[in-house]
Amino acid sequence: MDRSQTKVLIEDVITDLKEQGEFLPLDNTKERDKVLESAGEILKTTDKIIKSYIRVSRDGGAIERIPAYRVQHNNISGFYKGGIRFSEDVNESEVENLAILMTLKNALHGLPFGGAKGGVDINPRDYTERELNLISKKYVQRFALNIGPTQDIPAPDLGTDERIIDWMVGEYKTIHPGQAYSGSFTGKSVENSGAKGRRESTGIGTFLSYLYLLNEWFPEKRENADNKKEGREWDTLERLHTKFNEADPVDVAVQGFGNVGGIAALEAYNCTAAKHRVTAVSDQFVTLVNNDGLNVEKLITFTRKNNHLPDTKERLLEWKIDAEIKSPDDIVQLDTDVMIFAAIADQVTQENMRDIKADILVEGANAPVSVEADLYLQEQGKIIIPDILANAGGVHVSYLEWKQSRVTEMYSKEEILEEMGKQMKDSLMKVYDEYFLSSEHTMRFTCYSIALRRLTSLLHKHGKLF
Ligand code: GLU
Repeated sequence: MDRSQTKVLIEDVITDLKEQGEFLPLDNTKERDKVLESAGEILKTTDKIIKSYIRVSRDGGAIERIPAYRVQHNNISGFYKGGIRFSEDVNESEVENLAILMTLKNALHGLPFGGAKGGVDINPRDYTERELNLISKKYVQRFALNIGPTQDIPAPDLGTDERIIDWMVGEYKTIHPGQAYSGSFTGKSVENSGAKGRRESTGIGTFLSYLYLLNEWFPEKRENADNKKEGREWDTLERLHTKFNEADPVDVAVQGFGNVGGIAALEAYNCTAAKHRVTAVSDQFVTLVNNDGLNVEKLITFTRKNNHLPDTKERLLEWKIDAEIKSPDDIVQLDTDVMIFAAIADQVTQENMRDIKADILVEGANAPVSVEADLYLQEQGKIIIPDILANAGGVHVSYLEWKQSRVTEMYSKEEILEEMGKQMKDSLMKVYDEYFLSSEHTMRFTCYSIALRRLTSLLHKHGKLF
C-alpha cells in the first residue's frame, strides 16, 4: 500500500470536518477552518523519527549491521505508545505510517496515549535465541534516552513477544539503575509484572469487534425502521444475523495464525453466543481448509510445538487433523461469511478486490485492506471493520498493564479481559452508531473522523493551533 494513504485520508477527513465543525467551541467558520487546517498539518507531520543501526555478531562469526527505528508521531493525548516489530518489511516510512495509526487508534479508543512505533529490519525466524537477545538489548541501548514510563512506552508487535520485551526491560533497568522501570514497556510476561491476558487480548478484541456487531449492536438497532439508512449494508447484516441465530453456523476464515490470528480463530471456535465454523486458517507457509470446520484447538497445540501450521499430508495424518492443503495466498478469496486478516499489510488491493467473497472483513493486522479496496467492497455491500478499531484489544490491555505498574497492584485475568471487553464495546458501539446511522463514508473514514475530532479538540485546548 502507498503509505501516504493514511496522510491523504487524514486530509480528507479534515476537509469533511470543516463542513461539520460543531464539535469545536467556535462560532466563527474562518477561525474553525484555520484550527482544523493546522490540526491537519500537525498530524501529518511526525514529531520525531530516530534511525539507528544495530551491530550484531552472528553465531557463524559474521558481523551484521541492521537498521532499527523508533518513530514518535504525536503525544497530544498522552505519552508516546506503540509496539516494536521485527520484520523484513520494516523501513522508515512503514514505521512512520504505523506510528500515525497508533495516534489515531489511541485517540479513537479514548486511551490516554499518543502514537509511536518501533522496528528492526530482520526476519526473526532467521536468528538464534542468542542473536535475538543481543538485538533486543542493543535496541534498548540505542533508544534508551527516548523511551520510559512517562515518555514513550513500547510493547510487542509483529515478530516480537513477551520474551523479547522481558529482555528489553532487563536492559532498560541496567541502563537506568534505581528508576521505576516496570512501566517502561508493556506486554511483559506475567512473572515480570505483565498483565494477565495481554498475550490473548488483541486476538480476543479482534473477534469481539465482529461479535458485538452481530450480537449486540444489530439486534438493538434493527427494531427501529428509521435506523435503516439507504445504501448501508443492512441486507448483509440481516442475512448474517439470521444465520447467527439459527442452527446454520457462521463460516470464519483467518489469515495468520500467530498471536492475533490463532487466538481469534480459537475465540470463533469456542464462541458460545452462536455456532461458528472455522473453515480455513493460514500462515506464511500454508492454507488449511475444511468446509465442515477445522479443529482449531489441535492446530493451536501443533503450532505451539512447531512454530507453524502443519503443512504436509503426513503431519496432518499423524495429528489426525482433517484438512485440505492449499497455498498461503489462497485464503484471501475463499468463500466465507467472515474473513479475519491477522497477518500482514496489503492483502486486499485494487488487484484482487473483485475476488473477495467474504461479507465481513475484520482487520486484525494493520492495513490489510487498501483505501480503494475499502471503498469498492463497501459499495458491494460488504462490511470492513478497520484496524484501528478492531485490533485495539492489545493496547487497551497495555493501558491496564501500565496503570498496574503505577498503582503497584495486580489485576486478575478476568478483571483485565472484562475491562478490555467493556472498553472495546464502548468504542465499537460509538463507531457502529455513527457509521451505520449517519455517515456517508467508509467505516475507516468514520474511525479517523472520531479520532481526529478528539485530537483537534485536544490540540485546541492545549493552545497549539495558532
Ligand atoms: N502492537 C500493538 C498495536 O499495534 C500494541 C501496542 C501497545 O500495546 O502499545 O496496537
